[in-house]
Amino acid sequence: MLPSKFDLLVMKFGGTSVGSASAMKTVLEIVRDEKKKWKNVVVVISAISGTTNILLDTAAQAAAGDDALISKSVSELRTRHFEILDQTVNTPEININVKSSINELIEEFRSLCHAMFVLGETTPRALDAVASLGERMSVRLLAAIFNDAGLPAQFAEATEMVITNNLYQNANPDFPATQVATHQKLRPLFSDGITPIVTGFIGATPQGITTTLGRGGSDYSAAILGAVLNADDVWIWTDVDGVMTADPRIVKDARTIPSISYSEIAELAYYGAKVLHPKTVKPVVEAGIGLRICNTFNPTHPGTRLIANAEVQEPTEISQIIKAVTTIRNQKLVTIEGRGMLGVPGLAARAFAAVASTGTSVPLITQSSSEQSICFAIPSAPSDNVINALRNEFVKELANNDIDGVFASEPVSILTVVGYGTKNTPGIAGRIFSKLGDEAINVLAIAHGSSDVSVSLVIGSKDDSRAVLALHNLIN
Ligand code: ASP
Ligand code: MG
Repeated sequence: MLPSKFDLLVMKFGGTSVGSASAMKTVLEIVRDEKKKWKNVVVVISAISGTTNILLDTAAQAAAGDDALISKSVSELRTRHFEILDQTVNTPEININVKSSINELIEEFRSLCHAMFVLGETTPRALDAVASLGERMSVRLLAAIFNDAGLPAQFAEATEMVITNNLYQNANPDFPATQVATHQKLRPLFSDGITPIVTGFIGATPQGITTTLGRGGSDYSAAILGAVLNADDVWIWTDVDGVMTADPRIVKDARTIPSISYSEIAELAYYGAKVLHPKTVKPVVEAGIGLRICNTFNPTHPGTRLIANAEVQEPTEISQIIKAVTTIRNQKLVTIEGRGMLGVPGLAARAFAAVASTGTSVPLITQSSSEQSICFAIPSAPSDNVINALRNEFVKELANNDIDGVFASEPVSILTVVGYGTKNTPGIAGRIFSKLGDEAINVLAIAHGSSDVSVSLVIGSKDDSRAVLALHNLIN
Protein backbone atom coordinates (compact mmCIF):
# COMPACT_ATOMS: atom_id res chain seq x y z
CA MET A 1 0.00 0.00 0.00
CA LEU A 2 1.35 3.41 -0.91
CA PRO A 3 1.61 5.78 2.01
CA SER A 4 -0.96 8.56 1.99
CA LYS A 5 0.29 12.12 2.11
CA PHE A 6 -0.17 12.45 5.84
CA ASP A 7 1.29 9.14 6.74
CA LEU A 8 4.11 9.70 9.16
CA LEU A 9 5.33 12.67 11.16
CA VAL A 10 8.38 12.64 13.44
CA MET A 11 8.35 15.38 16.08
CA LYS A 12 11.32 16.12 18.28
CA PHE A 13 10.95 18.16 21.46
CA GLY A 14 14.06 19.68 23.02
CA GLY A 15 15.06 20.00 26.67
CA THR A 16 13.07 23.15 27.46
CA SER A 17 10.03 21.75 25.63
CA VAL A 18 9.98 18.94 28.20
CA GLY A 19 11.48 21.03 30.99
CA SER A 20 8.42 21.47 33.22
CA ALA A 21 4.99 20.03 33.90
CA SER A 22 3.30 22.74 31.86
CA ALA A 23 5.71 22.31 28.94
CA MET A 24 5.06 18.57 28.94
CA LYS A 25 1.32 19.20 28.95
CA THR A 26 1.77 21.46 25.94
CA VAL A 27 3.68 18.67 24.20
CA LEU A 28 0.76 16.36 24.93
CA GLU A 29 -1.69 18.80 23.32
CA ILE A 30 0.52 19.33 20.29
CA VAL A 31 0.82 15.59 19.73
CA ARG A 32 -2.89 15.05 20.32
CA ASP A 33 -3.69 17.64 17.63
CA GLU A 34 -1.25 16.22 15.10
CA LYS A 35 -2.48 12.68 15.73
CA LYS A 36 -5.79 13.80 14.25
CA LYS A 37 -4.07 14.74 11.01
CA TRP A 38 -1.40 12.08 10.62
CA LYS A 39 -1.75 8.34 10.57
CA ASN A 40 1.30 7.92 12.76
CA VAL A 41 3.32 10.28 14.91
CA VAL A 42 6.69 9.41 16.40
CA VAL A 43 7.85 11.58 19.29
CA VAL A 44 11.55 11.96 20.02
CA ILE A 45 12.62 13.89 23.10
CA SER A 46 15.67 15.25 24.87
CA ALA A 47 16.36 14.99 28.55
CA ILE A 48 14.65 17.57 30.75
CA SER A 49 16.67 20.77 30.29
CA GLY A 50 19.85 20.82 32.34
CA THR A 51 19.79 17.09 33.12
CA THR A 52 22.60 16.03 30.78
CA ASN A 53 24.87 18.68 32.29
CA ILE A 54 24.10 17.51 35.82
CA LEU A 55 24.84 13.91 34.85
CA LEU A 56 28.11 14.64 33.10
CA ASP A 57 29.38 17.23 35.59
CA THR A 58 28.79 14.86 38.49
CA ALA A 59 30.57 12.02 36.69
CA ALA A 60 33.54 14.26 35.87
CA GLN A 61 33.86 15.42 39.47
CA ALA A 62 33.60 11.88 40.78
CA ALA A 63 36.34 10.71 38.43
CA ALA A 64 38.44 13.65 39.62
CA GLY A 65 38.19 12.36 43.19
CA ASP A 66 35.29 14.38 44.55
CA ASP A 67 32.13 12.43 45.40
CA ALA A 68 30.33 15.25 47.17
CA LEU A 69 28.17 16.05 44.18
CA ILE A 70 26.84 12.51 43.74
CA SER A 71 24.21 12.49 46.45
CA LYS A 72 23.29 16.10 45.76
CA SER A 73 22.70 15.34 42.08
CA VAL A 74 20.82 12.16 42.91
CA SER A 75 18.32 14.10 44.96
CA GLU A 76 18.12 16.94 42.46
CA LEU A 77 17.33 14.54 39.62
CA ARG A 78 14.76 12.77 41.70
CA THR A 79 13.07 16.02 42.74
CA ARG A 80 12.95 17.41 39.22
CA HIS A 81 11.43 14.31 37.68
CA PHE A 82 9.09 13.46 40.53
CA GLU A 83 7.77 17.01 40.81
CA ILE A 84 6.73 16.98 37.17
CA LEU A 85 5.22 13.54 37.60
CA ASP A 86 3.20 14.59 40.64
CA GLN A 87 1.87 17.63 38.83
CA THR A 88 0.78 15.66 35.79
CA VAL A 89 -0.01 12.02 36.49
CA ASN A 90 -3.00 11.37 38.71
CA THR A 91 -3.45 7.64 38.30
CA PRO A 92 -1.70 6.16 41.37
CA GLU A 93 -0.42 2.97 39.68
CA ILE A 94 1.12 4.86 36.79
CA ASN A 95 2.68 7.38 39.15
CA ILE A 96 4.18 4.70 41.38
CA ASN A 97 5.46 2.57 38.51
CA VAL A 98 7.16 5.44 36.77
CA LYS A 99 8.73 6.66 40.00
CA SER A 100 10.21 3.27 40.62
CA SER A 101 11.60 2.91 37.12
CA ILE A 102 13.10 6.42 37.20
CA ASN A 103 14.53 5.60 40.60
CA GLU A 104 16.27 2.55 39.16
CA LEU A 105 17.94 4.75 36.56
CA ILE A 106 18.99 7.23 39.21
CA GLU A 107 20.50 4.40 41.25
CA GLU A 108 22.34 3.28 38.12
CA PHE A 109 23.71 6.81 37.87
CA ARG A 110 24.78 6.69 41.50
CA SER A 111 26.66 3.43 41.08
CA LEU A 112 28.31 4.47 37.82
CA CYS A 113 29.55 7.68 39.46
CA HIS A 114 30.67 5.77 42.50
CA ALA A 115 32.68 3.40 40.31
CA MET A 116 34.33 6.37 38.61
CA PHE A 117 35.16 7.86 41.99
CA VAL A 118 36.75 4.61 43.18
CA LEU A 119 38.70 4.16 39.95
CA GLY A 120 39.63 7.80 39.77
CA GLU A 121 39.00 7.83 36.05
CA THR A 122 36.37 7.52 33.44
CA THR A 123 36.08 6.48 29.81
CA PRO A 124 34.03 7.87 26.92
CA ARG A 125 32.02 4.65 27.02
CA ALA A 126 31.19 5.07 30.70
CA LEU A 127 30.28 8.72 30.15
CA ASP A 128 27.84 7.71 27.44
CA ALA A 129 26.20 5.27 29.84
CA VAL A 130 25.79 8.16 32.29
CA ALA A 131 24.68 10.74 29.73
CA SER A 132 22.03 8.41 28.29
CA LEU A 133 20.14 8.35 31.58
CA GLY A 134 18.60 11.81 31.04
CA GLU A 135 16.67 10.76 27.95
CA ARG A 136 15.88 7.39 29.45
CA MET A 137 14.17 9.16 32.35
CA SER A 138 12.37 11.81 30.31
CA VAL A 139 10.73 9.31 27.92
CA ARG A 140 9.29 7.36 30.83
CA LEU A 141 7.86 10.52 32.28
CA LEU A 142 6.30 11.79 29.07
CA ALA A 143 4.85 8.39 28.15
CA ALA A 144 3.18 8.27 31.57
CA ILE A 145 1.69 11.71 31.03
CA PHE A 146 0.30 10.67 27.66
CA ASN A 147 -1.19 7.45 28.97
CA ASP A 148 -2.64 9.15 32.00
CA ALA A 149 -4.34 11.64 29.69
CA GLY A 150 -5.79 8.85 27.57
CA LEU A 151 -3.39 9.12 24.62
CA PRO A 152 -1.87 5.65 24.26
CA ALA A 153 1.92 5.91 24.23
CA GLN A 154 4.91 3.69 24.79
CA PHE A 155 8.42 4.84 25.61
CA ALA A 156 11.10 3.30 23.42
CA GLU A 157 14.84 3.18 23.90
CA ALA A 158 16.84 4.22 20.85
CA THR A 159 19.47 1.70 21.96
CA GLU A 160 17.17 -0.83 20.31
CA MET A 161 16.82 1.16 17.11
CA VAL A 162 19.71 3.48 16.35
CA ILE A 163 22.63 1.17 15.71
CA THR A 164 25.95 3.01 15.71
CA ASN A 165 29.69 2.47 15.58
CA ASN A 166 31.64 2.61 18.84
CA LEU A 167 32.83 6.18 18.55
CA TYR A 168 31.56 6.99 22.03
CA GLN A 169 30.30 10.55 22.63
CA ASN A 170 30.05 11.17 18.90
CA ALA A 171 28.82 7.92 17.40
CA ASN A 172 27.73 7.55 13.79
CA PRO A 173 24.68 5.53 12.83
CA ASP A 174 24.67 2.56 10.52
CA PHE A 175 21.59 3.46 8.50
CA PRO A 176 20.72 0.05 7.00
CA ALA A 177 20.95 -1.69 10.39
CA THR A 178 19.04 1.17 12.02
CA GLN A 179 16.30 0.89 9.42
CA VAL A 180 15.71 -2.80 10.13
CA ALA A 181 15.77 -2.37 13.90
CA THR A 182 13.54 0.70 13.88
CA HIS A 183 10.88 -0.90 11.72
CA GLN A 184 10.90 -3.99 13.90
CA LYS A 185 10.45 -1.92 17.03
CA LEU A 186 7.95 0.68 15.84
CA ARG A 187 5.71 -1.00 13.29
CA PRO A 188 3.85 -3.08 15.93
CA LEU A 189 3.19 0.11 17.90
CA PHE A 190 1.86 1.81 14.77
CA SER A 191 -0.56 -1.03 14.09
CA ASP A 192 -1.89 -0.71 17.62
CA GLY A 193 -2.28 3.06 17.32
CA ILE A 194 0.27 3.67 20.06
CA THR A 195 2.51 6.74 19.90
CA PRO A 196 6.18 5.84 20.42
CA ILE A 197 8.14 8.24 22.60
CA VAL A 198 11.76 7.66 21.73
CA THR A 199 14.93 8.72 23.54
CA GLY A 200 16.84 11.27 21.49
CA PHE A 201 20.63 11.55 21.66
CA ILE A 202 21.44 7.88 22.19
CA GLY A 203 22.03 4.71 20.26
CA ALA A 204 23.92 1.47 20.76
CA THR A 205 26.63 -0.54 19.07
CA PRO A 206 25.63 -3.82 17.38
CA GLN A 207 26.72 -5.46 20.66
CA GLY A 208 24.16 -3.36 22.51
CA ILE A 209 26.53 -0.97 24.28
CA THR A 210 25.05 2.46 24.75
CA THR A 211 26.51 5.33 22.71
CA THR A 212 25.57 8.97 22.24
CA LEU A 213 25.45 11.02 19.07
CA GLY A 214 27.15 14.09 20.54
CA ARG A 215 25.80 16.94 22.66
CA GLY A 216 22.59 18.34 21.29
CA GLY A 217 22.23 15.15 19.27
CA SER A 218 18.48 14.64 19.73
CA ASP A 219 17.80 16.65 16.59
CA TYR A 220 19.99 14.21 14.76
CA SER A 221 18.07 11.29 16.30
CA ALA A 222 14.84 12.68 14.88
CA ALA A 223 16.41 13.05 11.45
CA ILE A 224 17.79 9.51 11.56
CA LEU A 225 14.41 8.06 12.52
CA GLY A 226 12.62 10.20 9.94
CA ALA A 227 14.99 8.95 7.26
CA VAL A 228 14.80 5.25 8.08
CA LEU A 229 11.03 5.35 8.51
CA ASN A 230 10.65 7.35 5.32
CA ALA A 231 8.59 9.94 7.20
CA ASP A 232 6.84 12.73 5.34
CA ASP A 233 8.04 15.41 7.73
CA VAL A 234 10.34 15.96 10.66
CA TRP A 235 9.47 18.83 12.99
CA ILE A 236 11.96 20.12 15.52
CA TRP A 237 10.14 21.79 18.41
CA THR A 238 12.31 24.23 20.33
CA ASP A 239 11.87 27.41 22.38
CA VAL A 240 12.19 30.05 19.65
CA ASP A 241 10.04 30.81 16.60
CA GLY A 242 12.20 28.90 14.15
CA VAL A 243 15.43 30.09 12.60
CA MET A 244 16.04 33.79 13.18
CA THR A 245 17.82 36.37 11.06
CA ALA A 246 20.22 36.95 13.98
CA ASP A 247 20.56 36.10 17.64
CA PRO A 248 17.64 38.00 19.22
CA ARG A 249 19.80 38.70 22.27
CA ILE A 250 21.99 40.84 20.04
CA VAL A 251 19.49 42.14 17.51
CA LYS A 252 16.17 43.13 19.04
CA ASP A 253 14.32 43.18 15.75
CA ALA A 254 15.63 39.80 14.58
CA ARG A 255 12.88 37.97 12.71
CA THR A 256 11.94 34.43 11.87
CA ILE A 257 13.13 33.30 8.45
CA PRO A 258 10.01 31.70 6.92
CA SER A 259 11.91 29.42 4.58
CA ILE A 260 15.53 28.55 4.19
CA SER A 261 17.40 26.09 2.00
CA TYR A 262 19.25 23.07 3.28
CA SER A 263 22.62 24.55 2.33
CA GLU A 264 21.85 27.78 4.12
CA ILE A 265 20.73 26.08 7.31
CA ALA A 266 23.79 23.84 7.25
CA GLU A 267 25.97 26.94 7.23
CA LEU A 268 23.97 28.48 10.06
CA ALA A 269 23.94 25.34 12.15
CA TYR A 270 27.68 25.16 11.80
CA TYR A 271 28.31 28.83 12.37
CA GLY A 272 27.10 29.18 15.87
CA ALA A 273 23.34 29.65 15.54
CA LYS A 274 22.29 26.85 17.84
CA VAL A 275 19.11 26.12 15.95
CA LEU A 276 19.80 22.62 14.84
CA HIS A 277 22.45 20.01 15.42
CA PRO A 278 24.68 20.28 12.34
CA LYS A 279 24.35 16.61 11.44
CA THR A 280 20.56 16.83 11.26
CA VAL A 281 20.39 18.16 7.74
CA LYS A 282 22.11 15.39 5.76
CA PRO A 283 19.76 12.45 6.44
CA VAL A 284 16.64 14.48 5.77
CA VAL A 285 18.00 15.95 2.55
CA GLU A 286 19.07 12.55 1.32
CA ALA A 287 15.71 11.02 2.15
CA GLY A 288 13.88 13.99 0.58
CA ILE A 289 11.99 14.68 3.79
CA GLY A 290 10.47 17.99 4.84
CA LEU A 291 11.93 19.67 7.92
CA ARG A 292 10.34 22.34 10.02
CA ILE A 293 11.55 24.17 13.11
CA CYS A 294 8.87 25.47 15.44
CA ASN A 295 8.22 26.78 18.92
CA THR A 296 6.57 24.69 21.65
CA PHE A 297 5.80 27.89 23.52
CA ASN A 298 4.14 29.52 20.51
CA PRO A 299 2.72 26.52 18.67
CA THR A 300 0.55 28.42 16.20
CA HIS A 301 3.57 30.25 14.78
CA PRO A 302 4.56 28.58 11.48
CA GLY A 303 8.28 28.68 12.33
CA THR A 304 10.82 27.96 9.61
CA ARG A 305 10.43 25.52 6.73
CA LEU A 306 13.49 23.94 5.21
CA ILE A 307 13.36 23.73 1.44
CA ALA A 308 15.40 21.83 -1.10
CA ASN A 309 18.23 23.81 -2.69
CA ALA A 310 16.61 23.30 -6.09
CA GLU A 311 13.48 25.11 -4.97
CA VAL A 312 15.38 28.24 -3.99
CA GLN A 313 14.38 31.18 -6.13
CA GLU A 314 17.37 33.10 -7.41
CA PRO A 315 17.01 36.43 -5.57
CA THR A 316 17.19 39.52 -7.74
CA GLU A 317 17.66 42.23 -5.13
CA ILE A 318 20.83 42.36 -3.07
CA SER A 319 18.69 43.09 -0.05
CA GLN A 320 16.91 39.76 -0.47
CA ILE A 321 20.03 37.69 -0.64
CA ILE A 322 21.24 37.89 2.92
CA LYS A 323 19.12 35.68 5.14
CA ALA A 324 20.97 35.72 8.43
CA VAL A 325 24.01 37.01 10.26
CA THR A 326 25.63 34.93 12.91
CA THR A 327 28.78 34.82 14.96
CA ILE A 328 31.04 32.26 16.63
CA ARG A 329 32.86 33.69 19.59
CA ASN A 330 36.00 32.65 21.47
CA GLN A 331 38.18 31.93 18.50
CA LYS A 332 41.81 32.76 17.80
CA LEU A 333 43.55 33.31 14.52
CA VAL A 334 46.69 31.29 14.10
CA THR A 335 49.29 32.64 11.70
CA ILE A 336 52.28 30.80 10.30
CA GLU A 337 54.51 33.18 8.42
CA GLY A 338 57.90 33.33 6.81
CA ARG A 339 59.55 34.38 3.56
CA GLY A 340 60.99 30.87 3.24
CA MET A 341 57.48 29.43 2.82
CA LEU A 342 57.11 30.64 -0.75
CA GLY A 343 56.63 27.77 -3.18
CA VAL A 344 57.42 25.03 -0.66
CA PRO A 345 54.94 22.22 -1.22
CA GLY A 346 53.50 20.40 1.75
CA LEU A 347 53.70 23.12 4.41
CA ALA A 348 49.95 23.54 4.61
CA ALA A 349 49.43 19.79 4.77
CA ARG A 350 51.90 19.49 7.64
CA ALA A 351 50.39 22.46 9.44
CA PHE A 352 46.86 21.05 9.32
CA ALA A 353 48.05 17.57 10.26
CA ALA A 354 49.70 19.08 13.33
CA VAL A 355 46.48 20.90 14.24
CA ALA A 356 44.48 17.72 13.70
CA SER A 357 46.82 15.81 16.00
CA THR A 358 45.54 17.98 18.88
CA GLY A 359 41.95 17.02 18.05
CA THR A 360 41.09 20.60 17.07
CA SER A 361 38.96 21.37 14.05
CA VAL A 362 39.46 24.44 11.92
CA PRO A 363 36.40 26.51 11.02
CA LEU A 364 38.07 29.01 8.66
CA ILE A 365 41.23 29.15 6.53
CA THR A 366 42.87 31.86 4.42
CA GLN A 367 46.19 32.15 2.64
CA SER A 368 47.58 35.06 0.69
CA SER A 369 48.74 34.41 -2.85
CA SER A 370 52.31 35.37 -1.94
CA GLU A 371 52.30 32.11 0.04
CA GLN A 372 54.26 33.79 2.80
CA SER A 373 51.66 33.16 5.43
CA ILE A 374 48.81 30.84 6.27
CA CYS A 375 46.17 31.95 8.64
CA PHE A 376 43.30 30.00 10.15
CA ALA A 377 40.85 30.15 13.02
CA ILE A 378 40.61 27.71 15.89
CA PRO A 379 38.64 27.75 19.14
CA SER A 380 40.49 29.69 21.87
CA ALA A 381 40.55 26.88 24.41
CA PRO A 382 43.01 24.52 22.68
CA SER A 383 45.14 27.33 21.18
CA ASP A 384 48.18 26.72 23.43
CA ASN A 385 48.21 23.05 22.46
CA VAL A 386 47.85 23.90 18.81
CA ILE A 387 50.70 26.43 18.87
CA ASN A 388 52.95 23.89 20.62
CA ALA A 389 52.09 21.20 18.09
CA LEU A 390 52.86 23.58 15.21
CA ARG A 391 56.16 24.72 16.73
CA ASN A 392 57.18 21.09 17.16
CA GLU A 393 56.23 20.26 13.61
CA PHE A 394 58.19 23.18 12.19
CA VAL A 395 61.13 23.06 14.55
CA LYS A 396 63.63 22.83 11.68
CA GLU A 397 62.03 25.56 9.58
CA LEU A 398 61.89 27.86 12.61
CA ALA A 399 65.56 27.23 13.36
CA ASN A 400 66.47 27.95 9.72
CA ASN A 401 64.30 31.06 9.65
CA ASP A 402 62.27 29.65 6.76
CA ILE A 403 59.37 30.21 9.07
CA ASP A 404 59.62 33.41 11.13
CA GLY A 405 56.80 32.82 13.49
CA VAL A 406 53.85 30.70 14.57
CA PHE A 407 51.47 32.61 16.79
CA ALA A 408 47.88 32.96 17.92
CA SER A 409 45.99 36.25 17.99
CA GLU A 410 43.95 37.84 20.74
CA PRO A 411 40.43 36.38 20.95
CA VAL A 412 38.43 37.02 17.80
CA SER A 413 34.96 36.25 16.51
CA ILE A 414 33.94 34.76 13.20
CA LEU A 415 31.08 36.62 11.63
CA THR A 416 29.14 34.73 8.98
CA VAL A 417 26.67 36.20 6.55
CA VAL A 418 24.44 33.48 5.15
CA GLY A 419 22.32 33.57 2.03
CA TYR A 420 22.04 31.95 -1.34
CA GLY A 421 23.80 34.25 -3.81
CA THR A 422 26.44 35.71 -1.51
CA LYS A 423 29.07 34.16 -3.74
CA ASN A 424 27.76 34.89 -7.21
CA THR A 425 26.12 38.26 -6.84
CA PRO A 426 28.36 41.24 -7.57
CA GLY A 427 28.26 43.88 -4.89
CA ILE A 428 27.53 41.73 -1.85
CA ALA A 429 31.05 41.75 -0.48
CA GLY A 430 31.21 45.49 -1.17
CA ARG A 431 28.05 46.12 0.84
CA ILE A 432 29.31 44.05 3.72
CA PHE A 433 32.68 45.78 3.85
CA SER A 434 31.27 49.26 3.56
CA LYS A 435 28.79 48.61 6.37
CA LEU A 436 31.63 47.45 8.60
CA GLY A 437 33.76 50.38 7.43
CA ASP A 438 30.97 52.80 8.38
CA GLU A 439 31.10 51.35 11.87
CA ALA A 440 34.92 51.55 11.94
CA ILE A 441 35.15 47.78 12.42
CA ASN A 442 38.37 46.26 11.18
CA VAL A 443 38.25 42.96 9.29
CA LEU A 444 41.18 40.70 10.21
CA ALA A 445 40.54 37.88 7.75
CA ILE A 446 37.95 36.77 5.25
CA ALA A 447 36.88 33.44 3.79
CA HIS A 448 34.69 33.70 0.75
CA GLY A 449 34.14 31.43 -2.17
CA SER A 450 34.35 27.97 -0.68
CA SER A 451 30.68 28.09 0.16
CA ASP A 452 27.92 29.15 -2.23
CA VAL A 453 25.84 30.43 0.58
CA SER A 454 28.06 32.26 3.02
CA VAL A 455 30.80 34.77 3.57
CA SER A 456 32.81 34.59 6.77
CA LEU A 457 34.86 37.38 8.26
CA VAL A 458 37.05 37.49 11.30
CA ILE A 459 36.85 40.53 13.54
CA GLY A 460 38.02 41.46 17.03
CA SER A 461 35.80 40.06 19.78
CA LYS A 462 34.92 43.47 21.14
CA ASP A 463 33.31 44.43 17.82
CA ASP A 464 31.16 41.38 17.25
CA SER A 465 27.78 42.53 18.53
CA ARG A 466 28.09 45.86 16.74
CA ALA A 467 29.05 44.05 13.56
CA VAL A 468 26.06 41.73 13.74
CA LEU A 469 23.77 44.70 14.29
CA ALA A 470 25.27 46.62 11.38
CA LEU A 471 25.08 43.72 8.93
CA HIS A 472 21.58 42.81 10.03
CA ASN A 473 20.53 46.13 8.52
CA LEU A 474 21.43 44.70 5.12
CA ILE A 475 18.62 42.18 5.42
CA ASN A 476 15.44 43.27 3.74
N1 ASP B 1 20.31 15.88 26.18
C1 ASP B 1 21.38 15.93 25.22
C2 ASP B 1 22.21 17.18 25.45
O1 ASP B 1 21.92 17.96 26.33
C3 ASP B 1 20.89 15.87 23.81
C4 ASP B 1 19.98 16.98 23.37
O2 ASP B 1 19.45 17.74 24.17
O3 ASP B 1 19.75 17.10 22.17
O4 ASP B 1 23.20 17.35 24.79
MG1 MG C 1 18.92 20.18 22.84
